[in-house]
Amino acid sequence: MAPEHIVVVGGSLAGLRALETARRAGYAGRLTLIGAETHLPYDRPPLSKEYIDSDQDSHITHFTGVEELADGLGVSLMLGQPATSLDLANGIVHVGDRTVPYDAALIATGAIARTIPAAAHLDGVVTLRTIDDARIVRSALDQGARVVIVGAGFIGAEVAAAVRKRGRSVTVVEALPIPLVRAVGETAGRWLSALHERNGTELICGVAVESISGDHRVEGVRLANGRHLPADLVVVGIGATPATDWLTGSGLTLDNGIVCDATMHAGGNVWAAGDVARWYSQDFDTPLRIEHWTNAAEQGAHAMRNLLDPSNATPYRHIPYFWSDWYGNRIQLAGRPIGEPTVVTGDTATDVFTALYRDGHRLIGALTLNRRSDIMKYRALIARAATWEDGLKLAQTRNNSLTTNSK
Ligand SMILES: Cc1cc2nc3c(=O)[nH]c(=O)nc-3n(C[C@H](O)[C@H](O)[C@H](O)COP(=O)(O)OP(=O)(O)OC[C@H]3O[C@@H](n4cnc5c(N)ncnc54)[C@H](O)[C@@H]3O)c2cc1C
Repeated sequence: MAPEHIVVVGGSLAGLRALETARRAGYAGRLTLIGAETHLPYDRPPLSKEYIDSDQDSHITHFTGVEELADGLGVSLMLGQPATSLDLANGIVHVGDRTVPYDAALIATGAIARTIPAAAHLDGVVTLRTIDDARIVRSALDQGARVVIVGAGFIGAEVAAAVRKRGRSVTVVEALPIPLVRAVGETAGRWLSALHERNGTELICGVAVESISGDHRVEGVRLANGRHLPADLVVVGIGATPATDWLTGSGLTLDNGIVCDATMHAGGNVWAAGDVARWYSQDFDTPLRIEHWTNAAEQGAHAMRNLLDPSNATPYRHIPYFWSDWYGNRIQLAGRPIGEPTVVTGDTATDVFTALYRDGHRLIGALTLNRRSDIMKYRALIARAATWEDGLKLAQTRNNSLTTNSK
């Protein structure tokens, strides 16, 4: 029997796709959305790209309007009201001193940007996760702020690219000797970070930030090697953590996210999706939690379908896909880019290449730079558990000159 009242916690991509899926599947019961932000669901990727990269007009992309959500989908909205705890045994979400009983709940509270606590109180020191963060960054860039970025991950790199597009200098500081090692491995981390140099960004690796100076406003960043980088804007891009604090003691298992089975079931009548969820991936035979747009969208929909029909719940099958835009270049990743890649198209010294990753005989990942039409073909192969040889065959059809040298 379908639940009478479904509560979705988290009003962004995964939560929205879940709500839309419920109605599309013919669910006619009550839907409530509890969201910490006051904003209607909006798209995050443009916040570190087109929203900040020029002083021309640019807009926040909202996925939906209030009429569409409230009237079209018939969702009761509780925006600007963070859920504060969950009572799994009694089926209740607490929002401060209000109680919201549910028959089934879907949690999509995403992730929260990591900060540098000692400097978080300074004006001009920001993370980039929300509309409000992006507005601060954009306004500082419009005013010609001197920018230092802490962390050479994808978001830090995109902000650096936005600053360079405005014709200004920018420095990125990375504590590790090579950026992006966890995302793409050491070798590919080197290839990608070379884009900074080629585009005039100063990249300082292997040096920790000792302190961020300023009384009320930020004045600069002092590095462990003694160097001081003057700054009016410091963007901290050092990753994110799943937004699970409010679930402590709820009875759900929390371990780098909400632990779900292969169907996105978290426990009781609760399901989870998006950046907050860690599920058992049958494709890779391991638990995964990923912070990718496509996963949030597809997982939100899948988790809701299973919530509506738990006795026929199916495993969530998904080959990760991610993109990032740096200096006019499109980076794309599919699968699990772990280990040492092999270049099969182009040349990493140029801005066009495809590299593949293997685990024994199996093709497990692909990384492309400016090869937009390649990536989904490799993703499809990985989904079929294709062999390394299959990957090389596909590369041959994509190239005239196949190279198999790993650099
Ligand atoms: C600046 C930026 C750029 C990005 N660029 C790319 C990209 O180029 N490519 C790509 O694949 N991915 C990108 N991503 C990642 C992608 O946007 C995320 O994977 C996606 O937004 C995850 O969606 P979600 O719904 O799971 O979580 P989120 O988008 O994090 O949303 C979670 C929502 O839940 C709310 N919430 C949290 N706690 C509570 C609570 N207790 N009660 C109620 N509500 C709560 C939050 O306020 C938030 O609104 C980017 C992310 C950022 C921040």
